[in-house]
Amino acid sequence: MMEKNLQRIRQDIEEACARANRPPSTVLLIAVTKTLPVERLQEAWDAGIRDFGENKVQEIRDKSPLFSGEAHWHMIGHLQTNKIKYIIDKVSLIHSVDSLKLAQAIDHAAGKAGRVLPVLVQVNVAQEDSKYGVALEECEGLVREIALLPHVRVEGLMTVAPFVFDPEENRPVFRRLKELYIDIKNKNIDNVNMHALSMGMSNDYVVAIEEGATMVRIGTALFGERFYK
Ligand SMILES: *Cc1c(COP(=O)(O)O)cnc(C)c1O
Repeated sequence: MMEKNLQRIRQDIEEACARANRPPSTVLLIAVTKTLPVERLQEAWDAGIRDFGENKVQEIRDKSPLFSGEAHWHMIGHLQTNKIKYIIDKVSLIHSVDSLKLAQAIDHAAGKAGRVLPVLVQVNVAQEDSKYGVALEECEGLVREIALLPHVRVEGLMTVAPFVFDPEENRPVFRRLKELYIDIKNKNIDNVNMHALSMGMSNDYVVAIEEGATMVRIGTALFGERFYK
């Protein structure tokens, strides 16, 4: 089941990349494994997946020790400053930085752990009340402030697009984020290395890739419906 889904997703990625004139290797598939038991992650691992997305500190703490260092753990959910210490040495990338306070806390923990942590700034492009993320207009300012922190490095932008029936509805959202990304990239800010655009989920990853996504975060299209206790 999972293998079949994975095949279809990989094919979709290839076709979307072909339409966008870019090699498929420019898109990283992140398997979103929140709420799933370890056996499902193992299945994905066996199928070649090495990038896992989780939205809870506890799940990263519990699951990451069970896989080798070859696995990359992506924190994609809202993060509380007091919990960063538990995952600072386990995550490869935090996608959900949306305040200076959070970036400062990451900087502090990363400094203690002797590392520089790559982060993405989460942008609430569609300005939904229910979503985390900075407004488009605030993004560059926040990137510039984070750039001054020695143990955090901004590597791109992330968004969670609205839940829509027709993924085409999200095309302008993805396009807008790509424009902002290019804008900021072109400013060549010190200690900012813009190369990642994390956008697109099960419902809309094809459109997101056509609009420039370099990371797609896919859960249900890969594993089926999630099980919430
Ligand atoms: C759950 C989640 C996803 C994956 O959602 P699906 O629709 O199951 O693909 C992607 N990004 C974030 C931030 C999530 O919380």
